[in-house]
Amino acid sequence: AQQIPEKTVDSVCPYCGVGCQLSYQVKDNTIISVEGRDGPANHQRLCVKGRYGFDYAQHPQRLRTPLIRRADAPKRSDMQMDPERIMDIFREATWDEALALAAGKLKSLRDTHGKASLAGFGSAKGSNEEAYLFQKLVRIGFGTNNVDHCTRLCHASSVAALLEGIGSGAVSNPVMDVDKAEVIIVIGANPTVNHPVGATWIKNAVKNGAKLIVCDPRRSDMARMAHRFLQFHPDTDVAMLNAMMHVIIEEDLLDHEFIKARTTGFEAIKENVKTYTPEAMAPICGIPAETLREVARLYATSKGSMILWGMGVSQHIHGTDNVRCLIALALMTGQIGKPGAGLHPLRGQNNVQGASDAGLIPMMFPDYQRVVTPGVTAKFELAWKLAPGTLDTKPGLTVVEVMHAIQHGDIRGMYIMGENPAMSDPDVNHARDSLSKLEHLVVQDIFFTETAYYADVILPASAFPEKTGSFTNTDRTVQLGRQAIDPPGDAKQDLWIIQQMGHGLGLDWNYQHVSEVFEEMRHTMPSIAGISWKRLENEGAVTYPCLHEEDMGQAVVFTENFPTADGRAKFVAADLIHAAEKPDSEYPMVLITGRQLEHWHTGSMTRRASVLDAIEPDPIASIHADDLAKLGGKPGDLITLESRRGQVSLYARVDNSSPRGAVFVPFCYYEAAINRLTNAALDPFGKIPEFKYCAIKIHLG
Ligand code: SF4
Repeated sequence: AQQIPEKTVDSVCPYCGVGCQLSYQVKDNTIISVEGRDGPANHQRLCVKGRYGFDYAQHPQRLRTPLIRRADAPKRSDMQMDPERIMDIFREATWDEALALAAGKLKSLRDTHGKASLAGFGSAKGSNEEAYLFQKLVRIGFGTNNVDHCTRLCHASSVAALLEGIGSGAVSNPVMDVDKAEVIIVIGANPTVNHPVGATWIKNAVKNGAKLIVCDPRRSDMARMAHRFLQFHPDTDVAMLNAMMHVIIEEDLLDHEFIKARTTGFEAIKENVKTYTPEAMAPICGIPAETLREVARLYATSKGSMILWGMGVSQHIHGTDNVRCLIALALMTGQIGKPGAGLHPLRGQNNVQGASDAGLIPMMFPDYQRVVTPGVTAKFELAWKLAPGTLDTKPGLTVVEVMHAIQHGDIRGMYIMGENPAMSDPDVNHARDSLSKLEHLVVQDIFFTETAYYADVILPASAFPEKTGSFTNTDRTVQLGRQAIDPPGDAKQDLWIIQQMGHGLGLDWNYQHVSEVFEEMRHTMPSIAGISWKRLENEGAVTYPCLHEEDMGQAVVFTENFPTADGRAKFVAADLIHAAEKPDSEYPMVLITGRQLEHWHTGSMTRRASVLDAIEPDPIASIHADDLAKLGGKPGDLITLESRRGQVSLYARVDNSSPRGAVFVPFCYYEAAINRLTNAALDPFGKIPEFKYCAIKIHLG
């Protein structure tokens, strides 16, 4: 019989960065269904994750009580997670005992080995307030800037290039602006899978006459609707994009007025792309010269051209260079600072934009205020009522750097909230080995994740519908997620746990409500100064920059100036460099990792959502039919993928959207953790690892 809900609670989807608004229908403290609401990013639409991915919150594997590692339990890095064996390794504890041990041991490591011996990973799965309080705890309670989160693994290179070039790491225009664009370039992104509702707006725009250019080494679903599909060779983005710039300059398709009035550094880029002729680049990137010319003309001459990109662009050692090229394209043609144009790095997680804004990054305080900029630490010392000189002025370590620092004995203790580096880090065998070497690891999560296996103390936390908080989507829109159900057992809300950890580290915090944290945030973050908690409650969604309470918020930015020291954007030239590890005779194929529609990131939530797990239950590798035939295999066969760092076995799925010689694998399957194979080589600017390219070999079985 159909269940009648007792209440309906308005909230936001917990998954991707589109930030769809939804309502939870609740009965007996259980979500029974989900409906889309009329939010600015979704207008009632939801994808399969948003509509069906909610019963993970009631999964029997939810952590319900604090756990402490038994003294004799192994911390072996080669063990797979086994939820059935949790109680062989851990024992239940009271909150008092668990918190005393969790914070007490971190405090003693800090006092014995120094502040830099500690690090914290927060999470884009959490709210803005959780991110803000977590980074504040690390900066004050630990006394270091060693705080980071998964932005380092997705768009850190985009943010590095955007901050350098145009002074802001966020998008210039919302996704919905595609309906005003004449030309839409989607590069290194698969929105149908990773931003499904956003993809529907792009597809609507195409139906209404916009020309879609899809650039990707893999033929994505969106390519079916494209005016031109540029299936360029993996690792050659800069060659392709510099060739387009060459055409725009050679054929004088430039916006001279924009370049003169609003930019610096054009001459250097003009010089740089001289040798990148389409004819010279065609054999490198695999796109015919005439197609490069045609696309460059289309992009430059339309009334509004918008570029949206994903991690196919950012997750390379040349990720920052790739984005520098996209920025330069927009600047030289004046395709930014107006509706229906601009630059949009599609954010992966529901709150990766907000967590970054809130300062969950090692080189910046909230609102991208750099720790090294004179006066910034003093400003936060004043705001946080600290003695002058308290805050660390040295940028902290990033995600992958922390794992190396553990191996060197520099980092000894960690607090990880909601992240799962034992699945999400590159070269995850190395990352797991690092986690096993920590003297003290505190993990705060809702499930016994692969990372929790290495913990000394596990703190059971709240799932998305069990708490109230604000979340910022890919469009810079801050939205309110509201508590619909209570956490199970003795699990607690994350904000409460962070505050208790703070008390254990000597901080006298007394936040009574999430709104108090948000109000403190907006007084230290000029971009959201005009967004009061009351406004969020009344309006549900407000876009920043929002400078005062009468400000409606700015969906399209850079209309007059760029937020740089001189108000101008800067061209930065990029040359072609190649992946850190190229195929060779021993490892002849390329591995590309990513996500799939039904599962989200490391799979800790969606693989415990019954409908989503039923649709995609097993680990699969997408491989071209010719490559599988060469192996002598057929669809569904077990194949083993091996790199210099590790191997996994999983099922072959014929998928001719993958180019010959390349295999695509999602990173959500713990039983075939593909990051055992990936390369931890870093982009020198964004410090993002090269998830999108490493050399592998394959065999049957
Ligand atoms: Fe959730 Fe993203 Fe799907 Fe919207 S598009 S329902 S935000 S996963």
